[in-house]
Amino acid sequence: MAAEASDALSPALAAASSLARLFTAAGYRLYLVGGVVREAVAGRFLAGADLDCTTDARPPAVRRIVGGLATSLWTQGERFGTIGCVVDGQAFEITTHRGERYEPHSRKPVVAFGDDVEQDLARRDFTVNAMAVDTADGTLIDPHGGRRDLASGILRTPLDPAVSFGDDPLRMLRAARFIASHGLAPEGALVGAVRTMGERLQIVAVERTRDEFEKLLLVDDPAEGFDFLTRTGLIEQVFAGVARPDLAEVGRVAAAVAADPAPRWASLFVRHPADTAAESLRGMRCSSALVSEAAGLVSARVQMAGARSSPQEVRRLVYQCPVPVDRALAFSRAVAAALGEPRAGLDSLEAMLAELRRTEDVDRPELPLNGDEVMAALNLEPGPTVGRALALLREMTFESGPISKAEATKALQRWQASDYCFEA
Ligand code: ATP
Ligand code: MG
Repeated sequence: MAAEASDALSPALAAASSLARLFTAAGYRLYLVGGVVREAVAGRFLAGADLDCTTDARPPAVRRIVGGLATSLWTQGERFGTIGCVVDGQAFEITTHRGERYEPHSRKPVVAFGDDVEQDLARRDFTVNAMAVDTADGTLIDPHGGRRDLASGILRTPLDPAVSFGDDPLRMLRAARFIASHGLAPEGALVGAVRTMGERLQIVAVERTRDEFEKLLLVDDPAEGFDFLTRTGLIEQVFAGVARPDLAEVGRVAAAVAADPAPRWASLFVRHPADTAAESLRGMRCSSALVSEAAGLVSARVQMAGARSSPQEVRRLVYQCPVPVDRALAFSRAVAAALGEPRAGLDSLEAMLAELRRTEDVDRPELPLNGDEVMAALNLEPGPTVGRALALLREMTFESGPISKAEATKALQRWQASDYCFEA
């Protein structure tokens, strides 16, 4: 292995050294695989990541071997061959070598364990992810030319792409992620296979598709991955049966907004009504918190675009903003910059907001009177009039900022004397 790769890998090998000794003593082999190897080969150390390992030991043996050393142990994935553990403060996921096949048209993987690391690597998604490092001696195992492909910037599957994507169609979507995150160019056969097999993504559970698409959304700049999804038509399968973003139009917006789930999902729907965004995200089984935050950003942006920056409008806007107003402003700003829209309106909104914040609690405006005080001031029983009175007070605070209890009482009494006939 090149010197910089072994330097980048040495923290991971050091973290795995206690486990390595135990596996060797028990007559098994333990390999680092996945992201940490890929990044090390590219000269980067993935700090803080879980370390993915593969071994010829079967899950019960893995459990026995790590049991004495681990401070925590997860066995939920044991059926699929994976035992999770924490050793010396480092988290590991140790998966028995596989020769697994997915039944066509089925969501359930059929797991067959294997004894051979090379066979395991052959059924991984891409050559750049199909490298392993023996934890006993640091040897790199790279039967599919992953190092070469990483250096020359090529995304390829270890097996024929049609076979690989047939085994797990989610790999087609993972391709988009690695294209975007590592600047890899997909080889022609891979692109061709996605074009013809795209519909197979429908056998994948929506949740897996959503999680993988979100990983693409969160890379620094997903645009190249979006371009791949558009060119191959796979985007239609990702958003099947729900409103689909026009990535050619909004694809470049994602990189401009904060790299968090809500703004990134919202960036896809800046040309849609907020309700459509919400419906689409619900269709993707996003959590209700995510749906409301993302749709909130979409709708706040529209409200901000149409708002004047008078104190009255800014108070109302902040109060009615479905997400924290500073987050909505940052999102709106980033979107406007990416779409080349004017930002002067947002500048003056922000200036007015700063000015109001100097003198009033514009973010949490209190009403001068509560319901009991309204009833006392107007000598009312509980009922809809109390609600109307509170709404009137809310309008007054939008209009003139904080008002005193005395002013509020006087205004309500005038309103009562007029037979409740004015609204604000
Ligand atoms: P990251 O740095 O984002 O964690 P990663 O390459 O480690 O990237 P994971 O999703 O953590 O990605 O998966 C770990 C490894 O497992 C991958 O590198 C790849 O070898 C393999 N893998 C993951 N998902 C699949 C899949 N759907 N099909 C085949 N191999 C996969
Ligand atoms: Mg990983």
